[in-house]
Amino acid sequence: MTPVEMLRELQKEANKVAKYDVPSAEDKIAKYEKYSNLLRLHGHSNEVMDMFHKQLEEAINILPTEYQELGTYNILMQLFLDLEKVIKSDVFRAELKDSIELKPIPTFGTVPLSTFSAFITPTDNASMPLIVFSEKFFIFAHLISEAVGMGFYIFNSDDNMITITAQHDSLKEHISQNPIVMARSLDLLFAYALLDDPSITKHRFNTKFPSKYNEKIAIMLHKGFELFVVAHEYAHYLLGHTGLRNIDELLHGVHSSDCEEKYVDEIAADTLGAVLSSYHFLIEDSEYKPLSFLGAYLCIHCLGMLNKINNLKLGRDEDYHFSDTHPNSEIRRMFLRESVVGNDEMTLTFFDIIDFIISQIWEEFKKIWNEGIEIYGDSFMDKSLSREMFEDVQSEIYERYI
Ligand SMILES: [Zn+2]
Repeated sequence: MTPVEMLRELQKEANKVAKYDVPSAEDKIAKYEKYSNLLRLHGHSNEVMDMFHKQLEEAINILPTEYQELGTYNILMQLFLDLEKVIKSDVFRAELKDSIELKPIPTFGTVPLSTFSAFITPTDNASMPLIVFSEKFFIFAHLISEAVGMGFYIFNSDDNMITITAQHDSLKEHISQNPIVMARSLDLLFAYALLDDPSITKHRFNTKFPSKYNEKIAIMLHKGFELFVVAHEYAHYLLGHTGLRNIDELLHGVHSSDCEEKYVDEIAADTLGAVLSSYHFLIEDSEYKPLSFLGAYLCIHCLGMLNKINNLKLGRDEDYHFSDTHPNSEIRRMFLRESVVGNDEMTLTFFDIIDFIISQIWEEFKKIWNEGIEIYGDSFMDKSLSREMFEDVQSEIYERYI
């Protein structure tokens, strides 16, 4: 199969599983008309929205299949172009001494499943793999970045210096004074846990940040997170990794190949992926350095949390690690700290802050999860019954934290 034929098969199958109808090209555009009207209402500038529409009109003409969702494809195309720009840049080439060969952007697409984030697979066309992303993971990335960005305690101190603290007590107090951090995070995690659908959370447009610094951090987290998801897969392709993962394996979780070798590949893809995504910020402004790895770090943290949620849903120990293709989140974060970031104090402080915020969110998640199991029993884990249950949990979350 060619990459596009393979993508079409995969999307057809995934749409069936997700009971997802395929909209026409006009409906695809219309959906975004509504969406951008909402964004305009919430203060997004006309200039930005006009650019967004121009991109969508271009993207609709290059969708690889009739099943392809428009908005996420457009985001992904922009991210691939951003990364291509990095690889072509003089700074990157000088540093990597041309060891990374520039290859054309591979065929890529999305599927409406949130149980995995992304993968790369070889096709019958030896030089062109296929990269597939989970559509909903990008909504998830956006919303968790905003929530975590609001959790940073960052302020203008007396001598007019910007101060950021990693001190646990201060962070805890900041989070309790900004309860939206917890409410939004839990709303999102339960939307994923109970319905596999991060798009049914409450707050999607109207975000008020504690300060303009928090907003800046959230933007860096979000952009870095998205770039890293794409850069990790792109890195597999650039590094010539060829681990076979067929459609069955991907949709039904059947693993086959040698696992140690894949762990090595994963760490290599993380490393190059993190470096590529970081350079996106550095070629614009070297002042971004301490913030340039934040999104990658948050992404790996989130994969860890989603893994824990899947374990809870299957009645397993939360730390159970079932993937024979990926090392666990903790190991991947350790590598990012030690092999990629090294001793950049500022970046490591930011990582500590993310660690703490995520640990707070996870503690609260488990409290509510356990209460849910007590109230609803095993049906809490049964997705087909969960819409009403989710709405109950959601209102409980907002009552409790806001
Ligand atoms: Zn990988």
